Amino acid sequence: MTTKLIQHYIGGKVVESISGRLQDVYNPATGEVSARVALASVEEVHAAVDAARAAAPAWGETAPLKRARILSRFKELIEKHHDDLAAAITREHGKVFSDARGEVTRGLEVVEFATAAPQLLKTQFTDNIGGGIDNWQLRQPVGVTAGITPFNFPFMVPMWMAPMAIATGNAFILKPSERDPTPSLMIADLFRQAGLPDGVFNVVQGDKVAVDALLQHPDVNALSFVGSTPIAEYIYTEGAKRKGPYPMRVQALGGAKNHLVVMPDANLDQAVDALIGAAYGSAGERCMAISVAVAVGSVADKLVEALIPRVKSLKVMNGMEAEAEMGPVVTAQHKAKIEAYIEDGVQAGARLLVDGRGLKVAGHENGFFLGGSLFDHVTPDMKIYKEEIFGPVLCIVRVPDFASALKLINAHEFGNGVSLFTSDGNTAREFSRRVEVGMVGVNVPIPVPMAWHSFGGWKRSLFGDAHAYGEEGIRFYTRYKSVMQRWPDSIAKGAEFTMPVAK
Ligand code: NAD
Repeated sequence: MTTKLIQHYIGGKVVESISGRLQDVYNPATGEVSARVALASVEEVHAAVDAARAAAPAWGETAPLKRARILSRFKELIEKHHDDLAAAITREHGKVFSDARGEVTRGLEVVEFATAAPQLLKTQFTDNIGGGIDNWQLRQPVGVTAGITPFNFPFMVPMWMAPMAIATGNAFILKPSERDPTPSLMIADLFRQAGLPDGVFNVVQGDKVAVDALLQHPDVNALSFVGSTPIAEYIYTEGAKRKGPYPMRVQALGGAKNHLVVMPDANLDQAVDALIGAAYGSAGERCMAISVAVAVGSVADKLVEALIPRVKSLKVMNGMEAEAEMGPVVTAQHKAKIEAYIEDGVQAGARLLVDGRGLKVAGHENGFFLGGSLFDHVTPDMKIYKEEIFGPVLCIVRVPDFASALKLINAHEFGNGVSLFTSDGNTAREFSRRVEVGMVGVNVPIPVPMAWHSFGGWKRSLFGDAHAYGEEGIRFYTRYKSVMQRWPDSIAKGAEFTMPVAK
């Protein structure tokens, strides 16, 4: 059997790569190579930028209502192919199928938001600022835009970007993760079926070579990135140095270490459920995963006692199995990296209450599986506390009171998401106002904002000032122009007898 080749999509068609560079794509549940993905050369990236640049002016001139109608058709096609998309995610990422379906739904919501483009692009108008002059704003497309996305949400994160860029009249180039590239081409095909003009949405598969070619191209005017903090910082600083007619706009969302604080007055059962789902769902490979439980005062022993049996009994199996709660991690290398963190925690003196290493899943002996791991007595100086593990490992830090919990969280280098479980309104209010984190949940474990609120962390979880999607997304993908106009005489028009429609 020949191995499937995953190619680029440029100018409205699948384009065979001629770079001669390929990378294996795995099914993490079996450990088998399921496909090989092309890794673009600089010239191939330039071809995608050329296609986008050619398509951008006409698309930018297309009435927002017409752009929105294409997005509405795209939305219907996603709904029709919801399960196919989810299965493709599970096959290359490993997350359980029901979770992959949830990922598709969260991406779909941004498409639904973007279908309101005519309303979202409305601006402010001041009548008669003086002497027959009016003043208003335009929100114009920036032209060629690009998005570089991580492996952990191969559908949802591209949907944070592409529908927003396209709704606002831009052409877009997606550079997906090389670890799970199949959904990118499914997205391209659905856009094509929806009637999107050729060149408005393009995909270049690849690695650092493709990323650098996008970063250095003088015609890429806005670049969105989601991934780890070192690469986010690199994208942000390199983007700022890029020479071109316009400075490059960059929004770069980075890594995380999300805490969930359990107060002594919290409903313990709810807090435990929240921790199990948020720490071990998607094998901890979520930027909004909870990786630190902060046990306040007397709650610690009860919390630990309740968590241990739940972590031990997690149903870890191929994500396509109906009863699976947790699938494998994405690659053998990532599995080894997580195992090294666990060993580091043991060496540093944290107490490993549940060890997820060495798990074998019957019939899937070569899959990249790990069971859930649980550490107690983790301290802020330990590497397992400071760094993002991005795996099914939960660290418990014990603190005496609320003030110490807040201080601990605010001292961390990341500030993506955070959660508090309490039954006290004043504690909740104080926490929401004082915590230095971009997305806050109160009795909500994973507070991922809905499509019409924007997504973004604080501190070293976000480089640039624009958050993703929502109102911030509209601002990021449009240029603001102020117009002052005076018209001494109106222009006479001939009569029209048909109902006026968008042309
Ligand atoms: P990653 O940083 O390794 O890769 C992200 C993208 O950058 C990929 O497309 C990859 O090809 C590219 N890339 C990798 N190395 C590069 C290099 N040296 N130079 C240029 N480009 C490079 O991230 P990942 O492992 O795919 O994803 C997991 C990370 O993403 C975690 O840190 C997670 O927290 C983060 N993440 C953050 C958010 C958020 O919204 N803040 C959302 C999802 C994931």
